[in-house]
Amino acid sequence: MSNPKAVLITGGAGFIGSHLAEKLTALGDKVFVLDDLSTGSMDNIRHLMPNKSFVFKKGSVLNRPLVRKMTEGVDEVYHLAAAVGVQVIMDKPLDSLILNTQGTEIMLDAVEGRKIPIMLISTSEIYGKNTKLPFSEEDDRVYGSAYNYRWGYAFSKGIDEFLGLAYFREKGVPVRIVRLFNVIGPRQTGEYGMVAPRFVRQALVGESLTVHGTGRQTRSFADVDDVAGALIKIMRHSKSAGKIYNLGSDEEISINNLAKKILKLTGSSSKVSYVPHDKVYSNGFEDMQRRRPDISKVKELINYNPKHSLDSTLKRIIAHESA
Ligand code: UDP
Repeated sequence: MSNPKAVLITGGAGFIGSHLAEKLTALGDKVFVLDDLSTGSMDNIRHLMPNKSFVFKKGSVLNRPLVRKMTEGVDEVYHLAAAVGVQVIMDKPLDSLILNTQGTEIMLDAVEGRKIPIMLISTSEIYGKNTKLPFSEEDDRVYGSAYNYRWGYAFSKGIDEFLGLAYFREKGVPVRIVRLFNVIGPRQTGEYGMVAPRFVRQALVGESLTVHGTGRQTRSFADVDDVAGALIKIMRHSKSAGKIYNLGSDEEISINNLAKKILKLTGSSSKVSYVPHDKVYSNGFEDMQRRRPDISKVKELINYNPKHSLDSTLKRIIAHESA
């Protein structure tokens, strides 16, 4: 086994961050988490608190002195703290833009001196409404009107990517960028719009499953366990510095079929109800019709081979929500 590392995870009390923290502590690493608990939660990390190799600090990535202090002794940084979920972006555009862009700049500035390896977590939103599928890392990013808040999120993550690449090229900081595609699994909350935990909860309590729009839009859902394991491998691969990787599943499913699958797996007699997008979000909301990543680059780098099928992931979410 390689030498234990000291690792900082920003947003480590969030859904993906907490799974990553779990994996890193299991590897024997010392894990420091910085999280302001805005969308993250102590419930996600309570089971890790007794572990001496796990240290939690409540605070914001916008707190420059705190970030400096927390990066002092660490060997690597996973920067996950960000405004997450379409609902958060639509409800709080200003806070989201500042958190995403300023937060990333503060993290990159803090690691610059010692050139600490850092991973920036980006998003499939980056591709916007490009209709060329599957999305590969070099593809164009296509956005709609400036009056639609949703695109502000894609822009802010785009700025983060450009900042990361500039720190790599101009300052020699080993920055890796990973674009995540619809990651799902236990502990994800449906509160901020995410479809899988929402449908599971609705099915379990006998409420109608709220399909937005026609339900013919597709997504490709990846299991958080596969994703967290891959993040560590990408981070620790010497060839990934200065590069961008898509990470997720390349199997597409329509939201209608997702709803059907969840009804079947839960044995629920809930109905499906159709809600027009403009009843869910205002400000000229546009939804992406299809989304599927080209994951050949990450497959080649780390031999990425997800072990969870969509059914097995949904069963894990159902078990978690039923507990
Ligand atoms: N969605 C839905 N019902 C919900 C929540 C989301 O039909 O209660 C749809 C949403 O409109 C989108 C898809 O499910 O087309 C995925 O939504 P999510 O917020 O999970 O991810 P993203 O939009 O970022 O892909």
